[in-house]
Amino acid sequence: MAEVKLEGVWKIFDGVEAVKDLDLKVRDGEFMVLLGPSGCGKTTTLRIIAGLEEPTKGRIFIGEKLVADAEKGVFIPPKDRDIAMVFQSYALYPHMTVYDNIAFPLKLRKVSKQEIDDRVREVAELLGLTELLKRKPRELSGGQRQRVALGRAIVRKPQVFLMDEPLSNLDAKLRVRMRAELKKLQRQLGVTTVYVTHDQVEAMTMGDRVAVMNFGVLQQVGSPDEVYNRPANVFVGGFIGSPPMNFLEGTVTPDGFISFGAFKLKLLPDQVKALEELGYAGKDVLFGFRPEDVYDALFAQVKIPGENMVRVKVDIVENLGGEKIVHLRVGDLSFIGKFPPESLVKEGQEVDVVFDMKKIHIFDKR
Ligand code: ADP
Ligand code: MG
Repeated sequence: MAEVKLEGVWKIFDGVEAVKDLDLKVRDGEFMVLLGPSGCGKTTTLRIIAGLEEPTKGRIFIGEKLVADAEKGVFIPPKDRDIAMVFQSYALYPHMTVYDNIAFPLKLRKVSKQEIDDRVREVAELLGLTELLKRKPRELSGGQRQRVALGRAIVRKPQVFLMDEPLSNLDAKLRVRMRAELKKLQRQLGVTTVYVTHDQVEAMTMGDRVAVMNFGVLQQVGSPDEVYNRPANVFVGGFIGSPPMNFLEGTVTPDGFISFGAFKLKLLPDQVKALEELGYAGKDVLFGFRPEDVYDALFAQVKIPGENMVRVKVDIVENLGGEKIVHLRVGDLSFIGKFPPESLVKEGQEVDVVFDMKKIHIFDKR
């Protein structure tokens, strides 16, 4: 086990800046998720930690050990970094049994037969593969194959696990089960893990912390709760959550409202104070709020001052059974609400909605 530290890491591929000035510290034993859209530099970051790519600039530490330093020309190859990787394609050896697939990394390292046998059986037990040890990969389901790939990664007890979208080839149901199993396994083993995904639900459910990236740039690092409830910027607010956060352009008025033309909302006293300190009073801003933080007034559980009730037009209602996703409009502004299943909203009608002002976000309008 070890912490993993990236300092000022850049990776430039013939002019393409895949990773830009990345500083990231993964704590000992932590499950860190790298989250972001396709092409944002997640895989490149993981490959740099693994030693499959050299950073263009910057330094990488695994534990106390400096494993890469572009300036000093230090570069420790993957096999000497004591890491194990799991990829999206499990890359099992098709001609080998489950047993031999799991045993392979130990055989490479010339571990004794007895110890190999002990370790393989221990790992198989942990992953529920004991009954399958004699099978070949083609005789396994997708989930079982993924477990064998995990078994091969954990059999060596490496200092760090590096996982690149390891669940993305599984069907939706299995993915949900495997993400819980994988999280539990990581807790049991306590091995520092860097896990790459573009799936925000995976990131939120598995990560101790989530590092959100966009265009090669780290946007925010925080617990799932922090990145959800206190997004550092519009990108993070919009990327995490489903349906995504709503954004409306508004103006902070000197008398403590945020005005959208068609309606205005009264800000809470501490928000007014904070906005004044930031110099936002009288300025155009982006007003962000999550679909679950705007309520059908008939079902509003929050105590709300009358100023924050707004009459809106219902454009579309998507009934998901457990909730209703409603597309709302007021003047030329539109946004999405998440209402309880009992809500009686109907398409084409008008409805009063209430904003939970404690949950709103105000971002600088660039
Ligand atoms: P992600 O895993 O987040 O989808 P990647 O790290 O794979 O993103 O890619 C980040 C950027 O770097 C992309 O623009 C990609 O096209 C580019 N890139 C990745 N690997 C290479 C490479 N070997 N050569 C050139 N460009 C690359
Ligand atoms: Mg990738």
